[in-house]
Amino acid sequence: MIQNDSSGYRIGEADRDCRWAVLTSDGEQIGRIFRWHGAWFALPAGATDATRQGDGGDGSESAARYLFAEYQAGRITPQPETPSQPQARDDAVPLLHPGMRDNDRTRSAARTAVAGLDAYRWAPLAGYPGSDNPWPVRCQLCGWEGNRYWSHLRGRNGNPPSPYRHPGCIDADKVRAVIPAYTRSPQN
Ligand SMILES: [Zn+2]
Repeated sequence: MIQNDSSGYRIGEADRDCRWAVLTSDGEQIGRIFRWHGAWFALPAGATDATRQGDGGDGSESAARYLFAEYQAGRITPQPETPSQPQARDDAVPLLHPGMRDNDRTRSAARTAVAGLDAYRWAPLAGYPGSDNPWPVRCQLCGWEGNRYWSHLRGRNGNPPSPYRHPGCIDADKVRAVIPAYTRSPQN
């Protein structure tokens, strides 16, 4: 949680699509902010369309400030904070992130990515967000959960991805031993 008491708002928890809640000092939610292909977007509470509000390192603050200004101008009706982890473990994960266009090309890319995750023993926790956006995944070797990028997980130039999966995972040698895709590659 990022505290920003002097500004009148604070940034709360992210939902499973990596969209952070923006809250008033009273704890009411005025919208969500999220990063998408390098830019930051703001989604006002109750709205269905997000708008681009910033880039780079301070884009999150730009997007949050925008929501707070809209709220102060009376254009956002705050809502009770929506829970960030409504997802039961066995709920079906959608194929595509809600920010993705739903068409044959994106569905095909998503199926390829999900199959690739499975081959390297990752489980998606949310819909495919594209190769360069954070994708919440679970490590099936140890149970770790966090964000990874498909552009990293898929490997490069036909080589498998790094066996160093995330801090705290099992040793790289064991990773290679338990994942058949590594033994099929002459490079590893
Ligand atoms: Zn792990």
